[in-house]
Amino acid sequence: MTSFNLQNIVRQHILSLAPYSSARDEYTGKEGIFLDANENPIGSATPENWNRYPDPYQWAIKEKLAPLKGCRPSQIFLGNGSDEPIDLIIRLTCEPIEDNIIILPPTYGMYEVSASVNNVEIQKINLTSDYQIDTYKVLEAINPKTKLIFICSPNNPTGNVIDRKAILTIIENFQQGIVIVDEAYNDFADEPSFIPELDKFSNVMVLQTFSKAWGLASLRLGMAFAGEELIKLLNKIKYPYNINGLTQKALLENISNVDFVKTSVKTLNQNRESLISELKTLPITEKIYPSDANFLLVRFTEAKRIFDYLIEQKLIVRDRSKVVLCDNSLRISVGTEEENLHLINLLKQYKPLNS
Ligand SMILES: *Cc1c(COP(=O)(O)O)cnc(C)c1O
Repeated sequence: MTSFNLQNIVRQHILSLAPYSSARDEYTGKEGIFLDANENPIGSATPENWNRYPDPYQWAIKEKLAPLKGCRPSQIFLGNGSDEPIDLIIRLTCEPIEDNIIILPPTYGMYEVSASVNNVEIQKINLTSDYQIDTYKVLEAINPKTKLIFICSPNNPTGNVIDRKAILTIIENFQQGIVIVDEAYNDFADEPSFIPELDKFSNVMVLQTFSKAWGLASLRLGMAFAGEELIKLLNKIKYPYNINGLTQKALLENISNVDFVKTSVKTLNQNRESLISELKTLPITEKIYPSDANFLLVRFTEAKRIFDYLIEQKLIVRDRSKVVLCDNSLRISVGTEEENLHLINLLKQYKPLNS
């Protein structure tokens, strides 16, 4: 089997491309009079000053994040949500029309959307009925034009962790491309991250996010972790100042607040278990899928009708009933105790069609 070589995976024109060199690339010092970036030296239209361009590589954040994640700052890429590294890794590696990616439905929708926007072919290898990887079928689907395999664990919308051995088998047998392990919900699971394995596997990119356990969805801040060479290439093709100064400041001032993350994970996981026991007692519940995340996939007797009823009552869940292997299922985010109680009360009052 061929061994991993990033030069063969990255699109050739990107290897030779000269990236935009920003003012903050060309002079990185902090002291001095700055007349190099056409900023407004007087100040800002807001009470707080935002007149200077932010650090294009967010080094201050990465220095603090690396020890939390057990990696080096040079192995981190920060993006405008996880959406950004998802799009960038496709654009970095996939030649439109020629190359393809493999995704494992039912899974997160952005992999398919990003590939489609870039006119990149998508091979879909469905998960098994218990939402695990069909390893043999995935390996069989790999062809010389396959560049990326996206694995989401815990998986959205099903909630379960994907078997670690199966992920390792894919990683070990796919040296011609990159395996993206999306760990957006890793904080809620007992499962170890793949980040500590990065030195062992140069064909892996791990995704995490500040949008879920950290409670910062509005800031739009996603993380990608990979070998230094791959991170350098992502930096080469990103927008120069992709993480704005307000976001960098808000995170930097609060990145030590891991207690918030731990406490909310504990609370939400407890709330999830209470929600499960309540849902179990309802006659309209057919199956509650095991979850290691802050949401539940639940199969109901008549999902669409229940979904519409809840909307009428101003309680919004996600209708996944048209998604492959998710017949009659709704995805319910775990709420506060009060919110969950309200949901259960509404479901108790629900009148089935044939009653
Ligand atoms: C929520 C989620 C993300 C995070 O997206 P952001 O763009 O960082 O908010 C990534 N992957 C999956 C599977 C998700 O469900």
